Amino acid sequence: MESINPQSGKVIQTYSSATDEALQTRLRAAADEFQHWKLNSFPERAKLMHAAATLLRARKAELAELMADEMGKVIRDGIAEIEKCAGCCDYYAEHAHQFLQKQSIASDAQESYVAYDPLGVILAVMPWNFPFWQVFRFAAPALMAGNVGVLKHASNVSGCALAIEAVFKDAGFPAHAFSTLLVESSRVEALIRNPLVSAVTLTGSTPAGRSVAGIAGSELKKCVLELGGSDAYIVLEDADLDLAVDLCVKSRLINAGQSCIAAKRFIVVRPLRAEFEARYAEKFKAIRYGDPRDPATDIGPMARTDLRDQVHAQVMKSVEQGARLLVGGVVPDGPGAYYPATVLAGVKPGMTAFDDEIFGPVAAIIEADDEEHAIALANQSVFGLGAALFTRDRDKADRLARRIEAGCVFINSFVKSDPRLPFGGIKQSGFGRELSWFGIQEFVNIKTVYHA
Ligand code: NAP
Repeated sequence: MESINPQSGKVIQTYSSATDEALQTRLRAAADEFQHWKLNSFPERAKLMHAAATLLRARKAELAELMADEMGKVIRDGIAEIEKCAGCCDYYAEHAHQFLQKQSIASDAQESYVAYDPLGVILAVMPWNFPFWQVFRFAAPALMAGNVGVLKHASNVSGCALAIEAVFKDAGFPAHAFSTLLVESSRVEALIRNPLVSAVTLTGSTPAGRSVAGIAGSELKKCVLELGGSDAYIVLEDADLDLAVDLCVKSRLINAGQSCIAAKRFIVVRPLRAEFEARYAEKFKAIRYGDPRDPATDIGPMARTDLRDQVHAQVMKSVEQGARLLVGGVVPDGPGAYYPATVLAGVKPGMTAFDDEIFGPVAAIIEADDEEHAIALANQSVFGLGAALFTRDRDKADRLARRIEAGCVFINSFVKSDPRLPFGGIKQSGFGRELSWFGIQEFVNIKTVYHA
């Protein structure tokens, strides 16, 4: 498994994939550790989780450099990602006890209550785009609940995967409470089917989710799926246009456009469409791609050249289908997986830019006849991850938010994850929730205890 610097195209490091015997030994050790770890008190677990947060903060500069090298994230975003992970560790260290405390429920029993018991070894299959955040938002609640974690990270970020394992070990967690398994995706099926694994969570593409859910289903193991998205940002006639343009630009370019909850489809009502489009295109023209280590860079390279080529093919297909290319759309000469900030206008259902997820810095602007049409267009998607609405009318926003088929709706803001708020999708964006108390309750046995 190779880590390739997407800026230079050079191999940074090659990792050998674990043998079947080594994997079995690691899973056995994790399962054995679970028998001890689950008996620790919340304060004992919290002390270690706070120590992990402290270590993350101390290492943020080097971890941000690792992300820049392995997947092209600009350094300031890498530092922000590590700080967010540390915040998530602190959050669950402080709140897990409250989220999982015994709940009394009145019934015909003398006493009846619900207790939350951990499940065991949880397998996490994770993507490269937020190589630390995606893992910590699983690991912090799972470990605080008394589970142990094994990570199969994306094959292009093995350095990050090992650095995460090191954070937990160096923070004082037992050696097998959290471990990294260096394996390719073809080995995930055997891992899910291994009797030592109790449940699985996957963050990644919809096809990977389908495969993992199918295997987990055939084994009757719980799974949580955080999959792709094509978030609609709806701009209504009474919107603050300056704010809408600004946030729509920012959200589309998060992580060089490689975010599941980046804005992807901009649905603007007819009276505002031309002005929105002109202002949006102006801002995209000013976006500079370049070295992720250079503070002047707006967006770094994409994570891999094959992913960049796939994005370009989707842009070209959309143009063939009738979309207008306003900005970008040309693959730059020279090394590196760079792709320019690109704007497509006149996008309609049936075009690739409307129907599929474009996982890169490409905006699709869509005109809606009116508010009703805007909602219908937003819902005309196989995905249902996030959405945003721009309007000055609070009551209308609340009404419309309830009609949008998505796991979250942000009003006059862009979609973001926050440890305090549940995160996840519907439709082909997956099922289950991460973060908040909903997330920590995904991998527990919700046990009823009844005293006659
Ligand atoms: P991906 O190709 O699905 O890979 C994600 C992870 O799944 C990697 O560890 C990958 O391993 C593994 N994998 C791939 N195919 C698999 C299969 N058939 N069975 C089991 N495991 C498999 O996704 P990606 O390209 O890295 O990430 C981009 C996608 O993730 C986008 O669709 C994005 O929207 C989605 N995403 C969703 C969220 C969310 O919270 N909803 C967050 C971030 C990203 P290898 O690297 O070894 O192939």
